[in-house]
Amino acid sequence: MMIQNWTHKAAFYERVEHLNLHGLHFQHVTLCKRRAWMYFHNINFAQWHNRVATGTAKHLTSYARDHSTEGLFGLAPDRIDWQKQIVYENKGTAGAVEASHNQTAFYAVILSIATGQEWQAITHILSSRKRRPVPLDEKRLQCLWEASEQLEVLALQSEVPDVKQIPLCKTCSLMRFCGYH
Ligand code: SF4
Repeated sequence: MMIQNWTHKAAFYERVEHLNLHGLHFQHVTLCKRRAWMYFHNINFAQWHNRVATGTAKHLTSYARDHSTEGLFGLAPDRIDWQKQIVYENKGTAGAVEASHNQTAFYAVILSIATGQEWQAITHILSSRKRRPVPLDEKRLQCLWEASEQLEVLALQSEVPDVKQIPLCKTCSLMRFCGYH
Protein backbone atom coordinates (compact mmCIF):
# COMPACT_ATOMS: atom_id res chain seq x y z
CA MET A 1 0.00 0.00 0.00
CA MET A 2 1.18 3.51 -0.73
CA ILE A 3 1.59 5.37 2.54
CA GLN A 4 0.09 8.44 0.93
CA ASN A 5 -3.19 6.49 0.59
CA TRP A 6 -3.13 5.13 4.11
CA THR A 7 -6.46 5.78 5.85
CA HIS A 8 -4.79 6.55 9.17
CA LYS A 9 -2.03 8.73 7.74
CA ALA A 10 -3.16 12.06 9.20
CA ALA A 11 -4.36 10.63 12.52
CA PHE A 12 -1.14 8.67 12.98
CA TYR A 13 1.03 11.70 12.34
CA GLU A 14 -1.06 13.81 14.67
CA ARG A 15 -0.80 11.24 17.45
CA VAL A 16 2.96 10.94 17.01
CA GLU A 17 3.35 14.70 17.25
CA HIS A 18 0.95 15.10 20.11
CA LEU A 19 2.53 12.36 22.27
CA ASN A 20 6.03 13.11 21.01
CA LEU A 21 6.50 9.47 20.01
CA HIS A 22 9.69 8.17 18.46
CA GLY A 23 11.09 4.87 17.28
CA LEU A 24 11.93 3.41 20.66
CA HIS A 25 8.35 3.78 21.87
CA PHE A 26 7.31 1.50 19.04
CA GLN A 27 10.05 -0.96 19.79
CA HIS A 28 9.21 -1.11 23.48
CA VAL A 29 5.47 -1.45 23.11
CA THR A 30 5.93 -4.36 20.71
CA LEU A 31 8.05 -6.13 23.31
CA CYS A 32 6.16 -5.37 26.50
CA LYS A 33 3.53 -2.82 27.55
CA ARG A 34 5.10 -2.31 30.93
CA ARG A 35 8.45 -1.58 29.34
CA ALA A 36 6.80 1.04 27.14
CA TRP A 37 5.04 2.51 30.18
CA MET A 38 8.36 2.76 32.08
CA TYR A 39 9.94 4.41 29.07
CA PHE A 40 7.16 6.98 28.94
CA HIS A 41 7.64 7.72 32.60
CA ASN A 42 11.43 7.92 32.42
CA ILE A 43 12.06 4.94 34.67
CA ASN A 44 15.15 3.02 33.70
CA PHE A 45 17.90 0.91 35.11
CA ALA A 46 20.18 1.07 32.11
CA GLN A 47 23.07 2.77 33.91
CA TRP A 48 23.37 -0.09 36.33
CA HIS A 49 22.73 -2.91 33.95
CA ASN A 50 25.94 -4.20 32.46
CA ARG A 51 24.40 -5.91 29.49
CA VAL A 52 22.78 -2.70 28.33
CA ALA A 53 25.89 -0.65 29.04
CA THR A 54 28.04 -3.05 26.96
CA GLY A 55 25.45 -3.15 24.20
CA THR A 56 25.33 0.62 24.03
CA ALA A 57 29.10 0.89 23.83
CA LYS A 58 29.24 -1.74 21.07
CA HIS A 59 26.52 0.01 19.19
CA LEU A 60 28.25 3.36 19.43
CA THR A 61 31.62 2.09 18.31
CA SER A 62 30.33 -0.16 15.52
CA TYR A 63 28.83 2.63 13.53
CA ALA A 64 29.36 6.29 14.11
CA ARG A 65 26.01 8.03 13.77
CA ASP A 66 25.45 9.34 10.29
CA HIS A 67 25.33 13.13 10.10
CA SER A 68 22.54 12.90 7.52
CA THR A 69 20.15 12.22 10.37
CA GLU A 70 20.89 15.42 12.21
CA GLY A 71 18.22 18.08 12.42
CA LEU A 72 15.30 15.68 12.18
CA PHE A 73 13.13 16.81 14.98
CA GLY A 74 12.09 13.86 17.10
CA LEU A 75 13.58 11.25 14.78
CA ALA A 76 16.79 9.38 15.43
CA PRO A 77 17.34 6.61 12.91
CA ASP A 78 20.92 5.37 12.53
CA ARG A 79 21.33 6.24 8.89
CA ILE A 80 19.39 7.88 6.13
CA ASP A 81 20.01 7.64 2.42
CA TRP A 82 18.29 10.81 1.25
CA GLN A 83 18.87 10.08 -2.44
CA LYS A 84 17.42 6.59 -2.46
CA GLN A 85 14.98 7.42 0.34
CA ILE A 86 15.95 4.56 2.59
CA VAL A 87 16.10 4.69 6.36
CA TYR A 88 18.35 2.26 8.23
CA GLU A 89 18.24 1.21 11.86
CA ASN A 90 21.13 -0.81 13.28
CA LYS A 91 20.54 -3.71 15.64
CA GLY A 92 23.18 -5.66 17.52
CA THR A 93 21.57 -9.05 16.98
CA ALA A 94 18.63 -10.50 15.06
CA GLY A 95 16.59 -11.03 18.27
CA ALA A 96 13.19 -9.39 18.80
CA VAL A 97 12.75 -8.96 15.09
CA GLU A 98 9.18 -7.62 15.13
CA ALA A 99 10.06 -4.92 17.65
CA SER A 100 13.09 -3.81 15.63
CA HIS A 101 11.12 -3.83 12.40
CA ASN A 102 8.41 -1.68 13.93
CA GLN A 103 11.02 0.84 15.01
CA THR A 104 12.61 1.00 11.55
CA ALA A 105 9.22 1.07 9.83
CA PHE A 106 8.11 3.92 12.07
CA TYR A 107 10.94 6.15 10.81
CA ALA A 108 10.18 5.35 7.17
CA VAL A 109 6.46 6.00 7.65
CA ILE A 110 7.06 9.35 9.31
CA LEU A 111 9.55 10.40 6.64
CA SER A 112 7.07 9.33 3.94
CA ILE A 113 4.29 11.38 5.49
CA ALA A 114 6.53 14.39 6.11
CA THR A 115 8.07 14.44 2.62
CA GLY A 116 5.11 13.16 0.60
CA GLN A 117 7.34 10.47 -0.92
CA GLU A 118 7.53 6.71 -0.38
CA TRP A 119 10.44 5.73 1.85
CA GLN A 120 11.87 2.25 2.42
CA ALA A 121 12.95 0.78 5.73
CA ILE A 122 15.89 -1.55 6.36
CA THR A 123 16.96 -3.11 9.64
CA HIS A 124 20.70 -3.71 9.66
CA ILE A 125 21.81 -6.59 11.90
CA LEU A 126 25.33 -5.70 13.02
CA SER A 127 26.37 -9.13 14.34
CA SER A 128 25.70 -10.86 11.00
CA ARG A 129 26.04 -7.76 8.81
CA LYS A 130 22.74 -8.69 7.18
CA ARG A 131 20.19 -6.21 5.94
CA ARG A 132 16.54 -7.00 6.41
CA PRO A 133 14.12 -4.94 4.36
CA VAL A 134 10.91 -4.08 6.23
CA PRO A 135 8.07 -3.85 3.71
CA LEU A 136 5.65 -1.05 4.59
CA ASP A 137 2.66 -3.12 3.60
CA GLU A 138 -0.87 -3.04 4.96
CA LYS A 139 -0.02 -5.43 7.77
CA ARG A 140 2.92 -3.34 8.99
CA LEU A 141 0.95 -0.11 8.82
CA GLN A 142 -1.89 -1.67 10.79
CA CYS A 143 0.63 -2.93 13.32
CA LEU A 144 2.05 0.59 13.75
CA TRP A 145 -1.42 2.06 14.01
CA GLU A 146 -2.40 -0.38 16.77
CA ALA A 147 0.89 0.24 18.55
CA SER A 148 0.20 3.99 18.49
CA GLU A 149 -3.25 3.34 20.02
CA GLN A 150 -1.66 1.31 22.80
CA LEU A 151 0.94 4.02 23.35
CA GLU A 152 -1.74 6.65 23.70
CA VAL A 153 -3.41 4.60 26.45
CA LEU A 154 -0.08 4.02 28.21
CA ALA A 155 0.87 7.69 28.05
CA LEU A 156 -2.26 8.66 29.95
CA GLN A 157 -2.18 5.79 32.39
CA SER A 158 -0.83 6.51 35.86
CA GLU A 159 -0.78 2.88 37.06
CA VAL A 160 1.95 0.44 36.04
CA PRO A 161 0.26 -1.94 33.57
CA ASP A 162 -0.19 -5.55 34.67
CA VAL A 163 1.84 -7.94 32.55
CA LYS A 164 2.89 -11.56 32.72
CA GLN A 165 6.49 -12.64 32.88
CA ILE A 166 7.87 -13.34 29.39
CA PRO A 167 11.19 -14.81 28.13
CA LEU A 168 12.53 -11.30 27.52
CA CYS A 169 12.33 -10.52 31.26
CA LYS A 170 15.52 -12.54 31.84
CA THR A 171 17.54 -9.98 29.92
CA CYS A 172 15.37 -6.89 30.33
CA SER A 173 17.08 -3.93 31.97
CA LEU A 174 13.91 -3.31 34.01
CA MET A 175 13.66 -6.76 35.53
CA ARG A 176 14.60 -5.50 38.98
CA PHE A 177 11.67 -3.12 38.98
CA CYS A 178 9.33 -5.92 37.95
CA GLY A 179 10.86 -8.50 40.30
CA TYR A 180 11.28 -10.84 37.32
CA HIS A 181 14.91 -11.78 37.87
S1 SF4 B 1 11.09 -7.32 33.13
FE1 SF4 B 1 9.60 -8.28 31.76
S2 SF4 B 1 7.62 -7.45 32.39
FE2 SF4 B 1 9.19 -6.12 33.26
S3 SF4 B 1 9.41 -4.47 31.75
FE3 SF4 B 1 10.95 -6.03 31.29
S4 SF4 B 1 9.99 -7.35 29.76
FE4 SF4 B 1 8.36 -6.18 30.71
